[in-house]
Amino acid sequence: MRTPSGPGGRPRSVRVRAPGKVNVSLQVGPLRPDGYHSVASVYLAVSLFEEVTATSTPGTGVTVSLSPASTLDVDALEIPLDERNLAVKAARLMAEMTEDPTGVHLTITKRVPVAGGMGGGSADAAAALLACDALWGSGLSKEELAHVAAELGADVPFALLGGAAVGLGVGDQLSPALATSRFDWVLVPADFGLSTPRVFAELDRLRDEEGIAVPEPIDVEPAILAALRTGDAGGLSHLLVNDLQRAAIGLAPQLRDTLGWADSHGALASIVSGSGPTIALLAPDAASAEDLAAELAHRGVEAVAVHGPVPGARIVSDTVL
Ligand code: ATP
Repeated sequence: MRTPSGPGGRPRSVRVRAPGKVNVSLQVGPLRPDGYHSVASVYLAVSLFEEVTATSTPGTGVTVSLSPASTLDVDALEIPLDERNLAVKAARLMAEMTEDPTGVHLTITKRVPVAGGMGGGSADAAAALLACDALWGSGLSKEELAHVAAELGADVPFALLGGAAVGLGVGDQLSPALATSRFDWVLVPADFGLSTPRVFAELDRLRDEEGIAVPEPIDVEPAILAALRTGDAGGLSHLLVNDLQRAAIGLAPQLRDTLGWADSHGALASIVSGSGPTIALLAPDAASAEDLAAELAHRGVEAVAVHGPVPGARIVSDTVL
């Protein structure tokens, strides 16, 4: 078991990084009586990473701050820095499961757009879980950590796992998918966020209005898994699906501009990521992704070239201060 702090009670700091995700496929069922929606989703972890540093503090309790090293403008972010913060929730849950935890301060380096449909908050929660587990020597198994992650939110188990995975249930019933080749993407964040519950509600409203009754999604399209398995970006480009896309566009019609631009400028396909508003463009290769990102930047549109799959939450450093 690791010691909770360094020699002589000196503070210890564990830094963990965890990836954001895009949904390569996201089918959404009807509103369930419990207020949730069943989904059938294929997650892909991409190389845009959140970092959480957990530093032991005297006493007890969990505090949090945002790092100035963040690539996002942290002063402008609408992120609660109290017990509502997903990383704080994760640390508190770990403290409950740990004998004699120290206090902890969490420093979050934000890179994944907030309320962007890429699971940034979930990545912070997964990173905080792993960091506190190491800091306090909680000794939870992978399965136990995944169980705690699911309590924190539907996307948290995937941020722990990483790679590519099929998500059923509310997205939390995960099975890893084989994806050994690299897929290149360009992410186009928006300068506004979309609330995930609001996007789901808009989809329900549109379906009601159109009298569309959808079945519960049972499984994902096998061809998507085959394209991931064989590294076939061209094949995958014809199979990208996101049921939430039209709801996100209904709430933010300007998303059409980037989607339309991408299709006529060399992207294989473009899709709203999760509940949006971040847009993910699938590129044929790394060089094309860099070119697309540069062209967008030239037009004054923020864009970042990434690739996936990448691993889930991992310890980057463990230091006695
Ligand atoms: P989802 O996983 O629901 O698709 P998202 O990726 O669209 O979410 P997040 O960046 O995870 O969006 O944030 C959703 C909301 O969660 C934000 O509006 C924010 O107020 C709240 N939140 C709580 N903790 C965090 C955190 N550590 N980072 C970002 N947002 C957080």
